[in-house]
Amino acid sequence: MAGEPQADCLFCKIVAGEVPATIVRESETTVAFRDINPQAPTHVLVIPKVHYANARELAAAAPAIAADVVREAGEVAADEKVDATGYRIVFNTGPGAGQTVFHAHAHVLGGRDLQRLV
Ligand code: IMP
Repeated sequence: MAGEPQADCLFCKIVAGEVPATIVRESETTVAFRDINPQAPTHVLVIPKVHYANARELAAAAPAIAADVVREAGEVAADEKVDATGYRIVFNTGPGAGQTVFHAHAHVLGGRDLQRLV
């Protein structure tokens, strides 16, 4: 059921402590951990503890938690001291956009020049 932990979901396993991760922040509703394949000096993923497949489903079903994810992403940027120079928050949504883990997550990228996307 949407929102419930999924047995085959890698990020649900990280939330449950069943898969190790380098956790940098945690709130009542979110966990932030370093990406295993970093694309920038700061590359942290912020995920809701509840399972939704992508950001759109999360925002529709649990808007307060979607807001928590965005707030925590900003706090990660401040913790990592990339907030002054600038950082990017990315929600890949769907396979065509590069989403490979179907548990909503925000990428927080910073610490290098980020090529302008839009
Ligand atoms: P997506 O491609 O937007 O779905 O992002 C998934 C991200 O999860 C990728 O950047 C992966 O490098 C990252 N990733 C996959 N497995 C792990 C893990 O076990 N720990 C931390 N990051 C992971």
